[in-house]
Parts: sequence; structure tokens; C-alpha cells
Amino acid sequence: MYGIPNMKLDKQKVVMRRLDMLEAEGVTFVCNTEVGKDLPTESLVNDFDAVILCTGSTRPRDLPIEGRDFKGIHFAMEFLTANTQAVLNGSPGVDYISAAGKDVVIIGGGDTGTDCVGTSIRQGCTSVTQLEIMPKPPETRAPNNPWPEWPKIYRMDYGQEEAAAMFGQDPRTYTTTATKFEGDEHGQVTAVHTVQVQWMQDEQGRFIPQHVPGTEQRLPAQLVLLAMGFLGPEQPIIDALGLEQDGRSNIKAEHEQYTTSIPGVFVAGDCRRGQSLVVWAFNEGRGVARECDRYLMGTTELP
Ligand SMILES: Cc1cc2nc3c(=O)[nH]c(=O)nc-3n(C[C@H](O)[C@H](O)[C@H](O)COP(=O)(O)OP(=O)(O)OC[C@H]3O[C@@H](n4cnc5c(N)ncnc54)[C@H](O)[C@@H]3O)c2cc1C
Repeated sequence: MYGIPNMKLDKQKVVMRRLDMLEAEGVTFVCNTEVGKDLPTESLVNDFDAVILCTGSTRPRDLPIEGRDFKGIHFAMEFLTANTQAVLNGSPGVDYISAAGKDVVIIGGGDTGTDCVGTSIRQGCTSVTQLEIMPKPPETRAPNNPWPEWPKIYRMDYGQEEAAAMFGQDPRTYTTTATKFEGDEHGQVTAVHTVQVQWMQDEQGRFIPQHVPGTEQRLPAQLVLLAMGFLGPEQPIIDALGLEQDGRSNIKAEHEQYTTSIPGVFVAGDCRRGQSLVVWAFNEGRGVARECDRYLMGTTELP
């Protein structure tokens, strides 16, 4: 509803239509209620015969470099969520973060970063730059990326196409990382210092980004958005229920089974598989409904 911008997914026509259907089928939605804060986590298992956790993968990767505490540096989801709320409500709320008239630097060249580019442009930013630490992908498939694998090639997504149309070029700068944030006497961010990196292999064969001397740059920025991926689900519910996690800190359960380490507690979606796609959320939602039905009824007719 809030993370994916409206220009990519129409909330009234698509999401609300689906929610209305589910409500008409008898599902009760309890909004503005955070489990673990507004509702004791234990009540999920004490008051219900089965529980399905679909809490998403929302813990953002941070960038703890010098100047991180300056005002104007935000996680991408803070920016995107407040923007969608403003679009849906027709006016900005107290949490609204404006890119209007600002030089925006987005750290992270993935899909969330792209949504920040598109949203910043719609809000009327002065300029937008997207920093990506990985190298620019090749124009055609690399030899180690044969068909039928997904082709890892250079592409312009909608945000980059819009930025190129507005400002004349792809906003992404590859093999570049931020080294520190600069701010003014009011504690407001004013610039991002960057350096190019070279990916070198260490003794264990792991690729490590190393700074290239002489490539330092200073980018003016009054708004910085951190879009460097997600580390997994929020921890409080997992801790309160004592659920087992996998090596990537997701809630542990097999695909198509969805059973956690606690009988009657199921898990599906991004909190099980990590940050993914809506089609997978649908797939897992249907699968977990089937397994939950089987648990409650002893058998199931769900596909
Ligand atoms: C910026 C962005 C853009 C994206 N764009 C696309 C796209 O274009 N196409 C695509 O296919 N996918 C996209 N995705 C991925 C897609 O949104 C997710 O894969 C999908 O929403 C996962 O569904 P889910 O139900 O597992 O989790 P989510 O959709 O993340 O839902 C989790 C829900 O649980 C709630 N919750 C969490 N903790 C608690 C708690 N303690 N108490 C109560 N409620 C809680 C959250 O508020 C949230 O509503 C995007 C993701 C992001 C972040």
C-alpha cells in the first residue's frame, strides 16, 4: 500500500479493490496496531488456533559513516511511505519529506532507489544522483551469465529514463560509495563525499571494495536517501515467540510448507524468503493458506 509508489501500482483500483473483496469474504483487518506494541505478541498464540506471520522484510541497511546524524538523511522507506500517504490523503502529513528544490543523492542503485528517483522527480527536485557501489553491468550477457539465467545486463528502469529526460543523463554513478556526509551549523546535510571503488579479492577469495585514491568527489545534497537493501524482518516478534531464523535472519520455514519451529505458527512472504516481489507474496500467501487449512482441518482442498 505505502512502499510501492502509486505511479507503479494504483492503490485505489488494485489494492483497495482486493482488500474490499477480502473484507467481504469475512476477513477482519485491524489497522494501526503493531503486534508487540499495541497488542502483546503472546496473545497471537494464546487467543488464536493458528497464526500466519507476513511481516515483510523491512529492516533497512544503514550507512554508519561520518555525518550520518545530519538532518535530511533518511531511509528510502521513510521518504516513500510518507509520499504515498500524502498522495492518498491529498495532503502531506507531519512525516512528509520533500525533495522539492533540493539536490537529492540516493545511495543504492536497486529498485527501491529507482522509486526514490521517480518520486524525487515528481516532487520537483533540482537534481538527482544515484550512487551504486557495484560495477556497471555489461550491455550484453557476460560468459558466466548464460541463457536461461536472468540476463544481468545494463538497463534503464522508469526512474532512470525519467531522470535522463529531465536532466540529460542516467542518474546512476557506478563503483562509487559515500565516505562522509557534510552539514551546516544547523545540523542539516549539505553534501555527500564520494570515492570510486575497485573490487579486489582477499585471501579467502571474497570481493572487497577498495577506495581508488584521487577519485574523491563532493556532491551537493540537501536530501540523502539510503536505499541499500533490507537485512530481514524486524526482530521483536521473532524474539517474543522464540522463532528459529535462517542464516539470512529470515524466519525459518520451507517453501510450500511454511511451518515455523512453533506448531500452529506459519510464516510466508518476504519475512520468510527475504525482500522479494509481489508475485512471490501471492504465491506464498496462497501456499500458507493451504497449509494452515490442513493444520486446522486435518485435510485441505486448497490448491
Ligand atoms: C520501495 C519498494 C518498491 C517495490 N516495488 C515492487 C514492484 O514494483 N514490484 C514487485 O513485485 N515488488 C515490489 N516490491 C517488493 C514487494 O513490495 C514485496 O515483495 C511484497 O510487498 C512482500 O509482501 P509481504 O506481504 O511479504 O510483506 P509486506 O508487503 O512488506 O507487508 C508486511 C506488512 O506487515 C506489517 N507489519 C510488520 N510488522 C508488524 C507488526 N509487528 N505488527 C503489525 N503489522 C506488522 C507491515 O506494516 C506491512 O503492512 C517493492 C518493495 C519496496 C520496498
